[in-house]
Amino acid sequence: MEAAPTFADVLAAREVLVRHLPATPMWAYPALDAALGATVYVKHENVQPVGAFKVRGGLTLLAGLTPDQRARGVVTYSTGNHAQSIAYASTAHAAPCTVVMPAAANEAKVRAVRSLGATVVLHGADISDAQARAEELAAAGGGLLVSPGDTPALLSGVGTAFLEIFEAVPDLDAVLVPVGSGTGAAAACVVAAELAPRCRVIAVQSAASPAGHDSWREGRCVRRPNRTVVDGLATGRGFTLPQYLMRELADFHLVTDAQIAAAARLLASHAHTLAEGAGAAALAAVLARPAEFAGLRVAVVCSGGNASPAEVAALAGS
Ligand SMILES: *Cc1c(COP(=O)(O)O)cnc(C)c1O
Repeated sequence: MEAAPTFADVLAAREVLVRHLPATPMWAYPALDAALGATVYVKHENVQPVGAFKVRGGLTLLAGLTPDQRARGVVTYSTGNHAQSIAYASTAHAAPCTVVMPAAANEAKVRAVRSLGATVVLHGADISDAQARAEELAAAGGGLLVSPGDTPALLSGVGTAFLEIFEAVPDLDAVLVPVGSGTGAAAACVVAAELAPRCRVIAVQSAASPAGHDSWREGRCVRRPNRTVVDGLATGRGFTLPQYLMRELADFHLVTDAQIAAAARLLASHAHTLAEGAGAAALAAVLARPAEFAGLRVAVVCSGGNASPAEVAALAGS
C-alpha cells in the first residue's frame, strides 16, 4: 500500500491549492433545516471548476510531480469526474494527459474531458477494461499511471475541503461524505481526528453499488456489481488506501437511488442547488434516518454538480 497521507500532508496541499482554488462556500438553509429537523450545512463542492471536489486532488497531485514526470504526462481511467479533474489539473500544469474511458462512456462526459485538453481513449466494456488499457499505455509510453483511489496526493488534496468545513463550524456532530473509491471519506477521517475528534464521520454509498461499504464492513477490499444510476458512487471495488483510513469512520450508511433522487430534489427546491446524484447522497442519508440526526448540527458534502440530463429531468418528479 502507498504511504497514507497525514494531517500535515493536507495542510501542505492547502498551501498548493490556494494558488488555484478559492475556499468553497458552506451554507445552512432555514427551509432545509425545517424540512429535516436538524441544522444541515451544505458544503458546496458543486461550484468547483469541473463541478466536483475531486479537482482539489488532481491539482495537488500534478503540483507535486517532478518536472520530468510532468513532461512524461499522466494516464488514468474513469467514467466521470476523476477524468475531468486530472484533465483540468494536467492542463493547468502543462502536462500531457491520457484518460481511458469505457467504449460506451457518456458522450457529454467524453466531450467535457476532451475540451479540458486530455486525450481520450475509448476502450472496453467497463472500468476494469479501461484500467487494464491505461496500465498498458502507461507502461508503453512512460506516463505516470494514476489510480483514482490509491494515490495519496488525491486524498491530501480532497482533505482540504474538510479543513474548510471544520474551521467554519468547529462543533459539528457529524459530517456525511459520499463514497465511490473513498478518497473523500478517508481524508475526512484524517482531518477530523485532528480538528474535530468528537465529530462523527459517516460515509454514504448507494445500496445498489455497495463495494466501498461492503469492503469496509468486511475489513478487506471486495468487488460488487454496479447497479446504481449514480455514477460518482459506482466503483465496483474497494480501494486499499482509502479503506485503510476509513477504519476510523463512525459509521457507513447505504441509501437507495430513490432516496438520492429525493435529496437532489430537496437541494433544488430548498437550497437552490443543482447536485448530481453523488452530490446529493450525503443529504439522502440524513433524509433516510431522521431520528438519528434530529436536532444535530451536521455537514453534508455536496460533492458535485455535474447532473446528467436524466438527473435534471428527474428534479421535476415527486
Ligand atoms: C468521485 C465522486 C464521489 C466519490 O468520491 P470518492 O473519493 O471516489 O469516494 C462523490 N461525489 C462526486 C460528485 C464524485 O465525483
